[in-house]
Amino acid sequence: MTAPVRSDILEDLDQFRSDVRSWLEQNCPESQRQPMTPDQQYWGGRRGSFPSDDARLWFERMRDRGWIAPEWPEAYGGGGLSPQQAKIVAEEMKGINARKPLLGLGLWMLGPALLEYGNEEQKQQHLRAIVNGELRWCQGYSEPGSGSDLASLQCKAEDMGDHFLVNGSKIWTTKADECDWIFCLVRTDPDAKKQKGISFLLIDMDDPGISTSPIELISGESEFCQTFFDNVKVPKENLVGELNKGWSVAKALLVHERKLMSEIGSDSPRQILTPNEAARQYLEFKDGKIADAELRGRITDYDMRMQAVALTHFRTFEEKINKVRSPAPLIMKYVGTEAEKTKSELLLAILGSRGVGWEGEGFTEAELDTTRLWAMSYAMTIAGGTSEVQLNVVAKNVLELPQHKES
Ligand SMILES: Cc1cc2nc3c(=O)[nH]c(=O)nc-3n(C[C@H](O)[C@H](O)[C@H](O)COP(=O)(O)OP(=O)(O)OC[C@H]3O[C@@H](n4cnc5c(N)ncnc54)[C@H](O)[C@@H]3O)c2cc1C
Repeated sequence: MTAPVRSDILEDLDQFRSDVRSWLEQNCPESQRQPMTPDQQYWGGRRGSFPSDDARLWFERMRDRGWIAPEWPEAYGGGGLSPQQAKIVAEEMKGINARKPLLGLGLWMLGPALLEYGNEEQKQQHLRAIVNGELRWCQGYSEPGSGSDLASLQCKAEDMGDHFLVNGSKIWTTKADECDWIFCLVRTDPDAKKQKGISFLLIDMDDPGISTSPIELISGESEFCQTFFDNVKVPKENLVGELNKGWSVAKALLVHERKLMSEIGSDSPRQILTPNEAARQYLEFKDGKIADAELRGRITDYDMRMQAVALTHFRTFEEKINKVRSPAPLIMKYVGTEAEKTKSELLLAILGSRGVGWEGEGFTEAELDTTRLWAMSYAMTIAGGTSEVQLNVVAKNVLELPQHKES
């Protein structure tokens, strides 16, 4: 049971909401209240550029207000807000369709992990730089042969006294060729059992010995790279947490990654139709109902499921505020990304032949986006831990089912 919230706190939050609303009204440029296409996003970094003057203005105002990272401490460039206040900022931004002024793995994943595991020097060096959009980060977890079984990773870092010497490679490193730094899992004790010999390192992509090679996708695009480390010298102070205890940092970071992905549907960067909107636009109606009974049933089923997902998100938030330990967050990556996949499948079924375009003329932007996001929805059930692996996590940690023992 969650504790009741005191009425004076609720009144403060009401006042806060009204302040946030009027600040956003005055400071969010009209052009930044539109759905965002990929070329309108700002990811920061040494090579990053603002897509427009308004995007820069919006970013600068949010940065100065501390709302790029509302919950981070003010000492590191954050807003120092409580989770309830940060939620209000997010809700009010969503209410006016305000764009996210800065995107990035530094903001979403590394920053929260550094707040928990980084030392003071690391927090000072990296957190404000992330909030200021100075550096763009990528994630060096997966390796050829070590994806789901991440703890089997082989990229090694040898202790050379005053530095580590890193050799090996990482794969599926999203946008490695556009990033400035990489947070990396490396093997520092080859003799220890799997998880026990792993450390968490921060590496400057400009260091000698690092190279990236793009991996071309079926779409012709290439957002992934293989990243190679050839005798890369990494200063000792770039070790986060303790030597050989990087697995704890890795898992904490994955919690943030999975939470982000679980909310992907409710936070879509592009304007795509909801199944109900698409139905009104593309389907025949009879007696006030969708004529196709099968699609009608699927849409109703989807609506009910999404209400349950929204309520569970709300529940996990309330549990976090009230410091109630609950296994609910563990199911959310699976639930959120599978729901998004179901939505995309449903949209394609509703769009029929209008949902098979990829590029070119003859289709609206919304139709092309729907098809592309359908493909992306499958990728989201893989990235950050596949759905099958998430189900294993649920079986073990939520349902506490007996585990298969390796002989
Ligand atoms: C869009 C996207 C972005 C990504 N970005 C990054 C990134 O920036 N950095 C990074 O390090 N990685 C990244 N990845 C890689 C991602 O983390 C891996 O793809 C993922 O962990 C799965 O690993 P794998 O591809 O090696 O598949 P495998 O582990 O080889 O799995 C293959 C299949 O076997 C199943 N399987 C494996 N083990 C089990 C098991 N024990 N029980 C049941 N089924 C199992 C899987 O579910 C899957 O269906 C990204 C992936 C995607 C799709």
